Amino acid sequence: MATAMRVQMLPARLGDCLLVECLRPRQRPWRMLVDGGPSDTWPLLRARLELLPSDDQTIDVALVTHIDSDHIGGMIPFLASAFAREHVRDVWFNGRPHLPRPVDPPRSVAQGETLTASLGGVPGVSGVSGVPDGMPWNIATAGAAVWAGESIRADAGGFQELDISDGPRITVLSPDARRLGALAKTWWKALDEATHPRPDRGVPKPPQPLRDIEALAATKTTNDAAPPNGSSIALLLEHRGASLLLGADAFGTVLAPSLATLAAARGVDTVPVDAFKLPHHGSQANVTAELIALAPARHYLVSSNGDTFGHPDDPALARVVVGAPAQPTLWFNYRNERTSRWAQTALRTAYGYAVRFPTATRPEAGVAVSLPARRV
Ligand SMILES: [Zn+2]
Repeated sequence: MATAMRVQMLPARLGDCLLVECLRPRQRPWRMLVDGGPSDTWPLLRARLELLPSDDQTIDVALVTHIDSDHIGGMIPFLASAFAREHVRDVWFNGRPHLPRPVDPPRSVAQGETLTASLGGVPGVSGVSGVPDGMPWNIATAGAAVWAGESIRADAGGFQELDISDGPRITVLSPDARRLGALAKTWWKALDEATHPRPDRGVPKPPQPLRDIEALAATKTTNDAAPPNGSSIALLLEHRGASLLLGADAFGTVLAPSLATLAAARGVDTVPVDAFKLPHHGSQANVTAELIALAPARHYLVSSNGDTFGHPDDPALARVVVGAPAQPTLWFNYRNERTSRWAQTALRTAYGYAVRFPTATRPEAGVAVSLPARRV
């Protein structure tokens, strides 16, 4: 069967760095780079880009989902590279100009921290406008924010379809106006933290043996409230009958209503997808049971080695294996003590799922999922 989409999830430690290729008959693949992991992911990403065919290295979209160091750390050197200047067609990033009521920069920024200013979009500071000078920025939205659009009702989710000529059908599911507003209030602090990350904070608690999965799935958890995560750009990509949901670090409380609104617009109850990159590295604060029910998937992608935050959380994966349709596959970009517990035969048999890890010989390649085409 022909492949419609390939998704490679690189090992980006606690962060995200994915390469998505939408294959097109008799044309080069349409490509999207999704985040760059923390800064130490850059050599790995650069090595991956060097594997692209020499006559076709186009990155149609470089997506910076939100300002957190585990997503933009590797994106900053990437966007500054000669490669990006030559091959990137569009950078999708919601910078300061896209936020409602942007507040003035503090003095230290105004005086010119080039990198911060560059990402922050401070007109007049070093002549930069948000992404490195001369780079195309949010072309797909005619320079406006990449966001889920106005919802029909105040309490409902929204979505926005982007017109990508000759590429996949792309629907933006996050952020909504409220989360962009929340980021606006804390923009400078968030940007400072993202560009000056603290050293990794210790070792998370060691994982416990997995026992009562149903109880884990039912664990009461507090929803994620961090403004940068809430501002995440989350996308549904559909191409030749295959589909991929990229959850970034988006809130379950934003994604679920957006998916519900999208499903209603399509006259269905849920939005089934082939692959779902779980939001926020499989955090229990983002992966809600409601979200899993609204976007049933055949493949679930989890990007984290567990550094600092101990992701993925057991309740999140329990919600997946309890709530997912029959025989899904969990893809982890690291095999470690935390993730390998989910590969126990007894568990896999009881809940009917499969698990995939990077190969032992090439862990630097992470995992790559191929989604078959259902139409030409
Ligand atoms: Zn993250």
